[in-house]
Amino acid sequence: MGGNPKFMQQAIQLATENVTSGRGGPFGAVVVKDDVLIATGSNQVTSSNDPTAHAEVVAIRNACAALGTFQLDGCDVYTSCEPCPMCLAALYWSRCRTIYFGNNREDAAKAGFDDSFLYSEVTKPLEERTIPILCLLPEEALESFHVWDSSPFKVNY
Ligand SMILES: [Zn+2]
Repeated sequence: MGGNPKFMQQAIQLATENVTSGRGGPFGAVVVKDDVLIATGSNQVTSSNDPTAHAEVVAIRNACAALGTFQLDGCDVYTSCEPCPMCLAALYWSRCRTIYFGNNREDAAKAGFDDSFLYSEVTKPLEERTIPILCLLPEEALESFHVWDSSPFKVNY
C-alpha cells in the first residue's frame, strides 16, 4: 500500500518535462498494474485546446486503450499532484485500486492552479454555485433512463 517511489519519480519527471518542452502545465501521471507501467499522461490542456486534458485523465484514457477496457481494476495511479475534483471523479469512475499523489492541493493553489476553489464549489448547494446550474425538462429527460433499463445494449459500469 505504500506505493513504489520509482513510479512517483516517473510522474514527477513527466510533469517537469511537460513544462520544459512547452507542452502544458506541470502535471504528470502514470498507471501501474502488478508493478508494471501500463500508461503515462501529462497535462495537455493548452497544447490540445482541451480543458479536460489533465494528466490523470490523459493517463486513464491511455491505460484503458492499452488494456482494452473501460475500467482500471487492480491498477494504481501515481500523479505528481493531488487530483482536482474532475480527475478524482474520473479516477473513481475508472475503479482504480490506489491513488498516490506528490504535491497537494495547497501546493497547486500556490502555483496558480486553484483546485481548492473547485473542492469548495462541489460541496455547495446548486443555487450557491458560481456557474448557474438549472434543472430543465426533468420528465422528458427520464425517457433515456427508461430506454436504458430495458436496452439489450445495457452494460453496467
Ligand atoms: Zn485534474
